[in-house]
Amino acid sequence: MLNSKGNSIRKLPALVANQIAAGEVVQRPANAVKELVENAIDAESTRIQIFIQDAGKTKITVRDNGNGMTPEDARLCFERHATSKITDASDLMTLTTKGFRGEALASMAAVAKIELLTSNETQGTGTRLELEDGIIITDAPVSCEKGTQITLKHLFYNVPARRNFLKSDSVEFRHILEETERLALAHPEIEFKLTQGTEELLRWPAGNEITRIKQVLGVQLDTQLLPIEEFTPYISIKGFIGLPQFALKNRKDQYLFINKRFVRYPYLHHAILQAYESLIPETHQPRYVLFLTLESQHVDVNIHPTKTEVKLDDERTAYHLIQSMVKRALGKANAGPSLDFNAEMGFMDLPARGQNPPPQPGIQYNAHYHPEYNPKPEASWEKLFSEAPQVALEEQALLDLPNDHEGPCLTYAKRYLVYPSLHGIMILDLRRARERIVYEHFLLKTVAQSYPAQELLFPESFELNAAAAQWMRDWQSNLLHFGIRIEPFGGSHFILYALPSGIELKDAKNWIENLRETCLLNNDLGVNDVRINLAQALALNTTWEEHWVQNESNWKHIRKELAACENPNFSPRGKPIQMCLKDADIRNFFKS
Ligand code: ADP
Ligand code: MG
Repeated sequence: MLNSKGNSIRKLPALVANQIAAGEVVQRPANAVKELVENAIDAESTRIQIFIQDAGKTKITVRDNGNGMTPEDARLCFERHATSKITDASDLMTLTTKGFRGEALASMAAVAKIELLTSNETQGTGTRLELEDGIIITDAPVSCEKGTQITLKHLFYNVPARRNFLKSDSVEFRHILEETERLALAHPEIEFKLTQGTEELLRWPAGNEITRIKQVLGVQLDTQLLPIEEFTPYISIKGFIGLPQFALKNRKDQYLFINKRFVRYPYLHHAILQAYESLIPETHQPRYVLFLTLESQHVDVNIHPTKTEVKLDDERTAYHLIQSMVKRALGKANAGPSLDFNAEMGFMDLPARGQNPPPQPGIQYNAHYHPEYNPKPEASWEKLFSEAPQVALEEQALLDLPNDHEGPCLTYAKRYLVYPSLHGIMILDLRRARERIVYEHFLLKTVAQSYPAQELLFPESFELNAAAAQWMRDWQSNLLHFGIRIEPFGGSHFILYALPSGIELKDAKNWIENLRETCLLNNDLGVNDVRINLAQALALNTTWEEHWVQNESNWKHIRKELAACENPNFSPRGKPIQMCLKDADIRNFFKS
């Protein structure tokens, strides 16, 4: 049969077919590193060494101490579809290995010169092969330790188009480093070494998840990350999420693993992002390292050649579970310096632990309520205190420190409250605290019913411009749900009849216009829930009286109300409410 070019159809030579396949699996040196390391992991290695030259363009070597191969397997492993990991389709349902397609080595052999040293014996005899253009050109027995070492030389030497496509050494090396980090995070039980040229860049001894995360993320786990853990029959989720104040401006520290495989899963990523909504600025990204484990029949890993995209058969369940876990963890830790806040029992006029139960917090609404997984509100001092991981430490601190937490409290710049705490000096932004309290208050009171409206003695009329008038008509019933009764009075005139009880206005027209602007801006910021939107708008537009700050009894009240909030550390727009000048920092500063 002739095609449009006049050629008859024939089968591609194996090398060409493999070069084309390589385009999917190995596009850059980092992909080769990934495939080689995954093979080493599948071979049950406990130590993996990676040597890189010129960002992998000249040479990539991966050495492992795994099971190795027999001479026969060594000769076979570069054949396309040669794999020891599955035998038939049903094995796909019970996969526990990284690889299964039998493509990686064949693809690499088609686009690089290869040297393989491997032995499956401890006696020290093994096989050495050299390949060029996918063909074995040297095959000899050698003496070598048990394990495998594969070297790729001159990657893409025979595919100039692909070679020209590579980025600078620093970019390509960064990809290699990222790939190594992902593999190492998923396998803390394996020692990893990475050498670039003659320089050993990293050596991560075997350890557990926590030590490995510290090695890779280089963070103070206890202060920047929160542990989370949940087991259900369908899925188990374990890992760490970053406190909002340590969010980054990039997505670097976002790791999601499914069955020990690093994956990109935008849908599940979204679940995490949603849980952080309004806790971090739009410009920032939360940090997370999450390990999801499911029986392999629930995970389809075969939807992408590099296997970084997978699909769960019930991703909605995973979505909701992840989201509610993250919210709960953030809420429980109160997402920030709340642990300092927790230590404020005496100062907050709350009874000490073990005595009478603390008074009911003023607001108990859980703004992040999820009916399936979050059955009760969390804002209870006793609960927060008893579940805080630092409890033992704090008790110790209580013994060590004099009762300085009973000390004075003063205002600064007519806006901030400053007071000593067990952990240092707390500074609280009263204005934002009030916004948070008002916000959660309105959210709570509008869940099931309308907010009580208070009829005005003197209804106020006002005129709006055309756009605002249209908005007013569209939002009339939403506003009514919040206790704001405004009715049209012909054209673009309106009358304000009632306000939520407790709110007093000086200028109705101005207030409505501000409310509208905040709502529109919230829409732009992605706040789609009308109730959240209006609660925020009311919080941001209730009058702020400076004289109010001067009243000492307000301070205690506001701190108590704030403490009862679901999220006492960030304003509804995600701005910090309080900070702590840490005791250790103060002491350090004055040392010497
Ligand atoms: P896959 O990993 O999908 O099976 P590969 O092309 O990556 O396909 O590898 C082919 C086969 O070569 C593997 O199935 C395995 O049997 C063998 N192999 C590759 N690398 C190693 C290694 N480092 N140690 C032991 N066996 C290996
Ligand atoms: Mg493989």
